[in-house]
Amino acid sequence: MTQCKCEHWQQCPVCMPHRFDAEGKLLPPEPTPLQAARTRIAELERQQAVLVEALEEARDEVVGWAAYASEYFQQKHNLKGYVEKLDATLASVKGNAEITGSPSGLSG
Ligand SMILES: [Zn+2]
Repeated sequence: MTQCKCEHWQQCPVCMPHRFDAEGKLLPPEPTPLQAARTRIAELERQQAVLVEALEEARDEVVGWAAYASEYFQQKHNLKGYVEKLDATLASVKGNAEITGSPSGLSG
């Protein structure tokens, strides 16, 4: 095993080669688990907002296009129930987004 002369708190290319790039320059600090988690949460919230918007749009398209179907087929395929299910999903997901989105939401 290769030994180096650095102190335990230092980062040198010998004892921590993964912290250096090909040219031997020290890489930027790795995020702490908390920083990594915050970054991940922000990314997931962004993705969730995109998905919620897409689902809202799809829901409105379903309602709009289903209006061309006769009352018989709207009832046969339970359009009302399907739209209610979509609305319940949207309400549930948007409720969660509001709670994680603002710290004050946690108290309510
Ligand atoms: Zn070292």
